[in-house]
Amino acid sequence: MHRDSVISIDMGGTKVLGCVVNSKEGIIASVKKPTDPASSRKMYVHQLAEVVNELIEEVHINKKKIKAVCLGVPGTLNPITGVIGLAPNLGLKNFNIKKMLEAEISFPVLIENDVNLGALGVKNFGVGKKANNMLAVFVGTGIGGGLIIDGKLYRGSNYVAGEIGHMLVEKNGPKCGCGRKGCFEAVASRTAIVNKIIKDIKSGKRSKLSKLVKTGERVRSKSLSSAVKSGDKVVRRRIKEGCDVIGEVLASISNLLNLDMIVLGGGMIEALDFYMLPLIKNSFSEHVLNDSAKGLRIVASKLADDAAVYGGIALAEEFLGVRV
Ligand SMILES: [Zn+2]
Repeated sequence: MHRDSVISIDMGGTKVLGCVVNSKEGIIASVKKPTDPASSRKMYVHQLAEVVNELIEEVHINKKKIKAVCLGVPGTLNPITGVIGLAPNLGLKNFNIKKMLEAEISFPVLIENDVNLGALGVKNFGVGKKANNMLAVFVGTGIGGGLIIDGKLYRGSNYVAGEIGHMLVEKNGPKCGCGRKGCFEAVASRTAIVNKIIKDIKSGKRSKLSKLVKTGERVRSKSLSSAVKSGDKVVRRRIKEGCDVIGEVLASISNLLNLDMIVLGGGMIEALDFYMLPLIKNSFSEHVLNDSAKGLRIVASKLADDAAVYGGIALAEEFLGVRV
């Protein structure tokens, strides 16, 4: 017999990942389903409902034990009304997903930004348990941030706080997905760093990644990691530059907020923490006010993709008062 649980769903552009989770048993089951980005809203929501039903069937859990379905949305939203403002990768805009999904399933639906959910997971079930004032930063395709202030998720006036990836770090710098130039993620995300490495290789610099780049394959965090381990100068240099910028931004944020913990996660950090963390810490120490950094710890998240899944538990407690 399973305990009371929530279903957490990570909404991706090409796939959704759903999990049944509770604080005692952890993740009990998970289902991954491809989604068609070109499908209608109704079809997309129907696919989410199917994930919920499949999960319940798989774990043979009594429906009464599912206390909420929590959606992690890659975009802006209002967690009170359940309206997605803009989720570019999902092609969704001004859409009350809560209402439409609740019409298909018999559970309360909660929504939250996926990075905020990750921060909630880290705070309540990961390395951030003891942190009061914490910033979680996820470095991958972009750079996302979630803020915990006085033990609670800080959402801001329009629920868009934590958009660390769009802080300006280089005037007239590389173009960002948001349309502006020189944003943090346009300079220091994996995408940005890989773009620079590709440019270096195309201009004739030698790298372990030359073959990958010439065949046009995607450069993943794993390839970056093995290049770094083998002493690849081009890759090491570009990643170091990225870490310098990450450290600078974190120092500025620390000066503003006087945090007690900064948690770094995401695909790139997971694969490269041995190389990146010391570099980020060095750059951070160089730029932060001494008093602001007193007692502050910079650590790697160990929850990986599960952070947001666990975040669903905290969201259900916050909005519905249920403990699972
Ligand atoms: Zn931007």
